[in-house]
Amino acid sequence: MILQQAKEILKQYWGYPDFRGLQGDIISSVLSGKHTIGLLPTGGGKSICYQVPGLALDGITIVISPLLALMQDQLQGLTKRNIKAYQFTGSYSPRQLDEAFRNIKYGGYKFVFLAPERLSNTLFLEYLENAEVSLIAIDEAHCISQWGFDFRPSYLNVHLLREQFPNIPVLALTASATDRVKKDLAEQLQIPDATMYEGSVRRNNLQLEKRLTPNKDKQLLRLLGRLTGTGIIYAKTRSSCESISHYINENGLHSTFFHAGLDLKEKNERQERWLDNKVPIIVSTTAFGMGIDKADVMWVIHWDTPDTIEGYYQEVGRGGRGGQLSQAYLLYNQQDFARISKGITDLPKPEEVEAIYHKICSHFQIAMGAGQDHQVKFSLVDLAAKLQTPIPQLLTYIKLLQQRGVWQFIESNQLYPELLFLTSPEHWSGLPEEDQQCLIQLFRVYSRASQHSTRIQLDAVAPMLHKTSKGLDQWLQRMHQKGLIQYKAEQNQCALLFLENRIDKRYFKLSKSFVESWITSKKERSQAILNFLASEECLAKVVENYFGQKPGEACGICSNCTLNHYPDGESVQAMLNDGLSFDDIWFDLNCPPDALRQH
Ligand SMILES: [Zn+2]
Repeated sequence: MILQQAKEILKQYWGYPDFRGLQGDIISSVLSGKHTIGLLPTGGGKSICYQVPGLALDGITIVISPLLALMQDQLQGLTKRNIKAYQFTGSYSPRQLDEAFRNIKYGGYKFVFLAPERLSNTLFLEYLENAEVSLIAIDEAHCISQWGFDFRPSYLNVHLLREQFPNIPVLALTASATDRVKKDLAEQLQIPDATMYEGSVRRNNLQLEKRLTPNKDKQLLRLLGRLTGTGIIYAKTRSSCESISHYINENGLHSTFFHAGLDLKEKNERQERWLDNKVPIIVSTTAFGMGIDKADVMWVIHWDTPDTIEGYYQEVGRGGRGGQLSQAYLLYNQQDFARISKGITDLPKPEEVEAIYHKICSHFQIAMGAGQDHQVKFSLVDLAAKLQTPIPQLLTYIKLLQQRGVWQFIESNQLYPELLFLTSPEHWSGLPEEDQQCLIQLFRVYSRASQHSTRIQLDAVAPMLHKTSKGLDQWLQRMHQKGLIQYKAEQNQCALLFLENRIDKRYFKLSKSFVESWITSKKERSQAILNFLASEECLAKVVENYFGQKPGEACGICSNCTLNHYPDGESVQAMLNDGLSFDDIWFDLNCPPDALRQH
């Protein structure tokens, strides 16, 4: 009966005749007043699960969401259907708050969106108490779990909301999560009795492919030559997004790039052009895609191996939304293994993190008991040199302290220096021997920099050139002045916003369990993605296993199901005759490199 009413709402506002998958079950559960947890894979129509009950119930629905962009998407979706929704953004004076809530109460609003940070404001909570709340929806609910890959301390503020509204049903929504996160979710949200609905993570129209290649540049182009339709290339850094996009455009393809460093106008333009199919390819960091629901994405390529299975699966899940077969290619090589393995070994100790906290505070002259809301700008390279800590490690410390809630870290646009060769080795013969050797070494390591401005890691290459990071930076600037290279040094654009006053040494203790749980879960996530790379089992089953779901049949279409252990000799010979190299052949035939030894 309840569901019938919900269906009518669905039909009236969305025009759909019926619910999909678990939507109906989740909505019935919510409407019967039960706490509910819905785990739906990306593209599973999560927002309908709270929007339909929100409309069916009398009062308003509070929606907690971690990202502004995500809230705006959902708000727009509702507004388009003539449903009134209010979003709290920016700061409010008591008077503005009063006005906003009066507006919500008498303006016929059904949904109120807010970020969890706002719940720490007691005045806000008092207003909320009088707002006739009938449902609390928590989007991206995995953010409340410390075990999750995306823990946000501000989500713990949801506890305050629960205390304020102990009798209002809670609906927690998230994508697929590991067993531990699922359990933690119910505990942290204080809804141990919640009914849990979990959708299968298996998507039959996703063809998961991983390809080992020492030469990603070359194989990317060859791959793009064969793929059709619109797609996304994910890369880890902003500068690699730019250089990959330039590189493929120079080779006759049509792409745009997207990352968080672009201004809003440019971001929207680039996104729109891709959404409208004016540009078929978008090269992007993971900043792109949240809330994007484009039905005709035919393929997704990962240029860098993602740090987690969760991230990987969320990103490949942006393909095939319209039900068509979508291919997901993960390009990897020894460097990906090395980067992820290094992340496992370079893990912090609590004392080190505490010590770094005080060193950073002292460096920026933050006095004990002061500093809240203070923002400092700095160069990561300089700070790392000053604290005698390698940059990646320093970043880990800073981010871990951010999770503890002491500050917010704002990353720079030009986090890493970039290099472009304006000359080639034959021009360097007249240079002093040392300069010549250094240039040649750099040229070998960063061969791509002969065509595109390429990110370089000073601390990684400096020892090879018998220089310090700082020394290398200065030398590169000299070469730049001589016109041999174009060198963009790191910009002094990182910032820390202190969220609390500096805490005295005696009281600032990171609990061992906080750091340890962080380390354990990071290790497990990294190990899982390494296993994914190394595994020869059906990739769809590897994913199911990871999310604690009972593995189904082998998918039959992933690169492990179709792995070609015994490539046919004649085909190999024909490909060699066509001028293909061994790495082309093993890439195309999906066979292990060893399998070609016999030819
Ligand atoms: Zn398979």
